[in-house]
Amino acid sequence: MNAVMELKGVEHVYVSDREATLAIASMNLSVYPGEFISLVGPSGCGKTTLLSMMAGLLIPSKGQVLLHGRPVSGPDAEVGYMLQQDYLFPWRTILSNALIGLELQKSLTEERKQTVIHLLEGMGLGATMDLYPSQLSGGMRQRVALVRTLATEPQLLLLDEPFSALDYQTKLQLEDLVAETLKAQRKTAVLVTHDLGEAIAVSDRVIVLASSPGRIAKTFEVPEHIRESQPFYAREQEGFNELFHHIWKELEATERKE
Ligand code: ADP
Ligand code: MG
Repeated sequence: MNAVMELKGVEHVYVSDREATLAIASMNLSVYPGEFISLVGPSGCGKTTLLSMMAGLLIPSKGQVLLHGRPVSGPDAEVGYMLQQDYLFPWRTILSNALIGLELQKSLTEERKQTVIHLLEGMGLGATMDLYPSQLSGGMRQRVALVRTLATEPQLLLLDEPFSALDYQTKLQLEDLVAETLKAQRKTAVLVTHDLGEAIAVSDRVIVLASSPGRIAKTFEVPEHIRESQPFYAREQEGFNELFHHIWKELEATERKE
């Protein structure tokens, strides 16, 4: 199977007046169609740097980032990037915020607008379309940001800690919603999270990163029966706690080596 996204010997150095920081070292990673991958690792290990390179917002100092085998040289309509903060425009209504990607791509048609309205309704935001971001809760704004990311129909979604600012209950509900929506639409996704339970519950593979420089410490495959259950119930599956424990140990080990 051909990879959707491939990192080959990717390295990234941030250069400032005073110093150069090796943020990512010799990273190799392939993400296959329909796969859901999570990246976990200590703060500062390079997760956001990696996503930004996959999104074409940052060009690696060395190595190659390939989208369907072609080098990435800038943002691509096939890739949707949802940042940790929701970055909704306060002066735009919820519907108009959700449509902005389509506007920027000059691909806003009546049909696509209707699809976005359906997405908003599906996420329980039907009654908020004419409101402004400040009138919504944090969880609702995150859902708007997600709809905005899905609106342009990217095949690959890059999600940087999208649920971290939410209360526990909203987070569990959104995990289910996102996992279901992405599975139904056969999307490929890379999720950055610091929540191990979340990583195991929603993904096919969990990749533990080590820092200084950022690199892959270990990859864990999530067993099929856990993958197939809804995230909320995945946590009750046999083997979930053992896997959690293994990944936890690996994370601890990478942090001790610093
Ligand atoms: P994470 O998302 O895992 O917390 P980042 O990708 O944000 O990590 O950062 C990785 C490393 O690169 C850190 O050491 C961070 O300080 C450094 N870094 C990130 N962005 C910049 C930047 N714009 N300029 C210089 N250093 C940066
Ligand atoms: Mg980050």
